[in-house]
Amino acid sequence: MKKNVSIVISCYNEEGNVKELHHQLADMLGKAKVDAEIIFVNDGSVDRTLLFCHELQKIDKRVKIVNFTKNFGHEAAMIAGMEYSKGDAVIFMDADLQNPVSVVGKMIEEWKKGEKIVLTRRRNYVNNNIIYKLCTKVFYFGLNMLSEVRIPKAMPDFRLIDREYVEFLKKFDERDVMFRGMLSLITDVSKVKIVEYDSPERVAGETKYKFGLRSMKLAIDSVLQFSVRPLYLVVWLAVFVGIISVGLGTYVIIERFILGNPTPGYAAIMSAITFSTAVILFALGGIGIYIGKIHLEVKKRPLYFAEYIESKSNPRKNGE
Ligand code: UDP
Ligand code: MG
Repeated sequence: MKKNVSIVISCYNEEGNVKELHHQLADMLGKAKVDAEIIFVNDGSVDRTLLFCHELQKIDKRVKIVNFTKNFGHEAAMIAGMEYSKGDAVIFMDADLQNPVSVVGKMIEEWKKGEKIVLTRRRNYVNNNIIYKLCTKVFYFGLNMLSEVRIPKAMPDFRLIDREYVEFLKKFDERDVMFRGMLSLITDVSKVKIVEYDSPERVAGETKYKFGLRSMKLAIDSVLQFSVRPLYLVVWLAVFVGIISVGLGTYVIIERFILGNPTPGYAAIMSAITFSTAVILFALGGIGIYIGKIHLEVKKRPLYFAEYIESKSNPRKNGE
């Protein structure tokens, strides 16, 4: 029998949205007759987000607050919410009302039917410009070529994960976290249930990820964190350059010593340069692969520092 859900909401300067979101959630949860805890993760907001969360807590004891000591970023906020959650399923959503509450209801329905993971997909592009669409396609194509895990397009961090899988996720003791990639490591994401939705425009506040910086970070992270392919690319490049250098060297030898023709100086020089470049790249690539692997493992720093507030009288620090 399915019991209760935890709704994890990451908030960074969302004073214009938290109350409305809570209102909509309370409404939906009432209709769906689901027990829930609503965890607002305040990611170092400098506006009245925290104040409003406290106000919500006064009128609704389901509201829990994870208050970060400073801004640690969206991924850290989701992880923190997940770590403090107690529900039989955890729903991750943004605070900005761009993740429709009706979709949360649908995800819960799917979960009750037995789905362990429910992902969402934006039906509409954030930007309808044709160039943007084309760039997005090329971007994801390149990304998936380079990365070993599949990073699906237009799949936001708006999802439901059953407790069983939440416990799997918690086993990843990694600092540099990326949910999308991690799910691909646990299960075959091409087979999980997906709910499609239209994302409305942001009403209050502004996006924290301007100029596609988030996409850039996502791209770099998904390649570097889940793949050592780029490093192998360096090795392949070395092999390629090596072949050219051997070709040039052979040409020089045949021309000069077999056919007895005077060889142009550039060929010999190019051959030497390409050969040494190939050796250097090969060595660098080899070392890089090791450093890449160490890099993936070694940084065991805490992901965030936070105070957990169930009710005003009961603050806990850092998961004690
Ligand atoms: N967010 C966060 N920490 C940050 C940046 C953003 O917790 O450092 C939250 C933000 O409040 C929102 C969600 O993450 O609830 C998504 O951010 P945003 O809407 O700015 O991103 P976009 O939807 O434009 O990609
Ligand atoms: Mg948004």
